[in-house]
Amino acid sequence: MDALKERVRTSRLLGQDEYLVLHGGGNTSVKIDGILWVKGSGWDLGTIEEGGFAPVRMDALLGIAQKEMISDSELVRLQKDGMTDKAAPAPSIEAVVHAIIPYKFVDHTHADAVVTVSNTPNGRELIQKIYGDKVVVVDYVMPGFILSKAIAEAVKGREWSEIEGIVLLNHGIFSFDEDGEVSYQKMLSLVKKAADYLEQNAKIDVKSEISERTKEALSGEISTLRGCDVGIEAIDTVGAKTFASLDNLEAILSGGPLTPEHVIRTKPRAVSLEEGREAECVKAYADWYNGYFEANNDGTKIILDKAPRWGVVKGKGVFVAAKDEKEAKILKDIISHTIDAMLRAVKLGGWKSLNERDIFAIEYWELEQAKLKK
Ligand SMILES: [Zn+2]
Repeated sequence: MDALKERVRTSRLLGQDEYLVLHGGGNTSVKIDGILWVKGSGWDLGTIEEGGFAPVRMDALLGIAQKEMISDSELVRLQKDGMTDKAAPAPSIEAVVHAIIPYKFVDHTHADAVVTVSNTPNGRELIQKIYGDKVVVVDYVMPGFILSKAIAEAVKGREWSEIEGIVLLNHGIFSFDEDGEVSYQKMLSLVKKAADYLEQNAKIDVKSEISERTKEALSGEISTLRGCDVGIEAIDTVGAKTFASLDNLEAILSGGPLTPEHVIRTKPRAVSLEEGREAECVKAYADWYNGYFEANNDGTKIILDKAPRWGVVKGKGVFVAAKDEKEAKILKDIISHTIDAMLRAVKLGGWKSLNERDIFAIEYWELEQAKLKK
């Protein structure tokens, strides 16, 4: 019964991911020697054990699948009749669906990303655009017998070997394979496709309120300081907006980078400013950077440019100051993570990473300098 053990293992992995199922949702099965072991009702995938699976004869289930129409209570009775161990929990109402999918392992979840895309006015088209024709898309019907009919109808005339999964609109998704781990991985990669689509097309943005005038002023001041053209891009995330509104910004910003190696991209700290005072705030930053260099230089280092790579316009938003698109992308990624880390650390009492001396040692470390020059 190694297959049942494997079934328990990957069922738990699915059940412990709240982006896939919540509180007892979803179901899984494995076919072993003519028996379908399917999640028993009342069991939660995240904590299921071997005893949580109901053993039902495949011939009984495939017999039910051949019927024209039966009621839910009839389905429950027939499924129960097919059980090889009457003391086991009652099989999931989806047992027939699991039986007609001709693979050893079948996984079913209600993945947030998939149902999110599906629950939109153009849900079917979007799902088909994301998955192409490798995934069968089935219109919503009640779970149970009718769903098994709808799936059988949808796959008619198609080769199962060419089907990677089944999306049930407004409900969830199925993956399947002869191998338990592969079926689990297929679920993850199918869900990731929907999640990537949402990430690209439906980010929950909060527009920064940094004005164009401030961006222009900052671009001018920071370009001069850095000695090349620098563009200003706002970070439009909930975190960035929340961060810009914190009371104790100066204390947090002086607390250092997320991890030391970031310093070669980000400089030791951000510039903070108020709208209308761009020039003096950027100058104050350069003065601070000079002081930082003087205090830590052992006399052998040559000062780098004094231009900030990111900053906060109080109450308005967070921005990065980058010389090209590539740098802007890197800075946005690092700063988005840094801000989220800082916001959480503040809840634990404050932000305090490395001291200036250790940060300086990395920023002016010859090996780090060499990496930048590449
Ligand atoms: Zn379901």
